[in-house]
Amino acid sequence: MDIFESYKQLGISKAVYDFGEEVLKELKQRFEKIDGVAEYNQCKVLNAMRKNRVDANCFSASTGYGYNDVGRDKIEQVYADTFHTESALVRPQIVCGTHALTVALSANLLPGDELLSPVGKPYDTLEEVIGIRESKCSLKEYGVSYRQVDLLDDGTFDYENIKKAINEKTALVTIQRSKGYQPRPTFSVKQIGELIKFIKQIKPSVKIMVDNCYGEFVETEEPSDYGADMIVGSLIKNPGGGLAPIGGYICGTKECVDRCAYRLSAPGLGQEVGASLGVMTSFYQGFFLAPTVVAGALKGAIFAAKIYEKLGFRVVPNGTEERYDIIQAVELKSADGMIAFCKGIQKAAPVDSYVTPIPWAMPGYENEVIMAAGAFVQGSSIELSADGPIREPYCVYFQGGLTWYHAKIGILTSLQEMVNAKLINL
Ligand SMILES: *Cc1c(COP(=O)(O)O)cnc(C)c1O
Repeated sequence: MDIFESYKQLGISKAVYDFGEEVLKELKQRFEKIDGVAEYNQCKVLNAMRKNRVDANCFSASTGYGYNDVGRDKIEQVYADTFHTESALVRPQIVCGTHALTVALSANLLPGDELLSPVGKPYDTLEEVIGIRESKCSLKEYGVSYRQVDLLDDGTFDYENIKKAINEKTALVTIQRSKGYQPRPTFSVKQIGELIKFIKQIKPSVKIMVDNCYGEFVETEEPSDYGADMIVGSLIKNPGGGLAPIGGYICGTKECVDRCAYRLSAPGLGQEVGASLGVMTSFYQGFFLAPTVVAGALKGAIFAAKIYEKLGFRVVPNGTEERYDIIQAVELKSADGMIAFCKGIQKAAPVDSYVTPIPWAMPGYENEVIMAAGAFVQGSSIELSADGPIREPYCVYFQGGLTWYHAKIGILTSLQEMVNAKLINL
């Protein structure tokens, strides 16, 4: 069997294939380490499922109000036990990550309170949620003020100014773990832990929320192991394992999560209502697979970093750094570069492989965004995907891959498109 023959059928040239194989030789040890983390996290998830006696009853669909939905209640307990929190809200009624974050923020901030981001500008879609960009129903409109302390030039926390920014109004601190659309480093769970400790020493009553998107299962610990009151994320990213068709989660203290449940449904109703409809099997099975899926995505991210670094592009993180999320940023230097890269990812997709991605004005984002996603679940970015706002420094954010092999094929196809467009010479 000649594996290159299969790649050839996918449109990969010998030069591109060989380049990839050369890069892979250097990655053996790192891949082994990633497998070790996945194995550890697999134990963690399995333990939580055993402890909670997950069984076939958990997979039944409830409708209407969804009273006494055992599967829904248990998946929340499984999340809480895996992430070591008192409580969890894991729902298909949370429509995306931004929604989960909005629920967590608006449930735990009251008029007159101040929200602090000590890690610079939050994710694009949160600008309207907070009111950094004017919007109807923003936190600002409800009388919640916002303060931000930017990172220092080297990407570390500006402790001095964070201390100054905490005042009598500061009620909640939001820490974004992943870089999102910023060319800054992603924080390790340990780094986040240090920041949490620092803030709680100054003001113990302040609540800490971590935007955990793209970070779940990358390490053996989560920010909730280091004192975060809430960790929040999307099920069409890491913890859904590629199978959850929708959903978001908030794991944290009972006090915070109860408030989130009241905000999501209604005061007095809380977690008691919310039909699971028929998505529970995919929630459980996806969470069960998530550690392995995340490992595959991580391998893809490192492979992409090594390839583009070798070709002279700036990549964040670089090819050798520790990883704290599954996102790989590649500065492609031009809009054409972004388009060619995304074209390749799209071409390698199992779904919609025949369409050509073009930049568009996506709701919630300030600049035009290009997105390559040929996913089974619309917009799922634990599946192989690439996106980025068309603005300097023309940085594409690559992530996902339900299997390592698919991530590899996608990356090689993107490289092929760059070569075909004469943006790269191998
Ligand atoms: C994806 C993401 C969000 C928002 O999630 P959506 O599901 O797209 O609404 C928020 N924060 C970070 C860091 C993210 O990566």
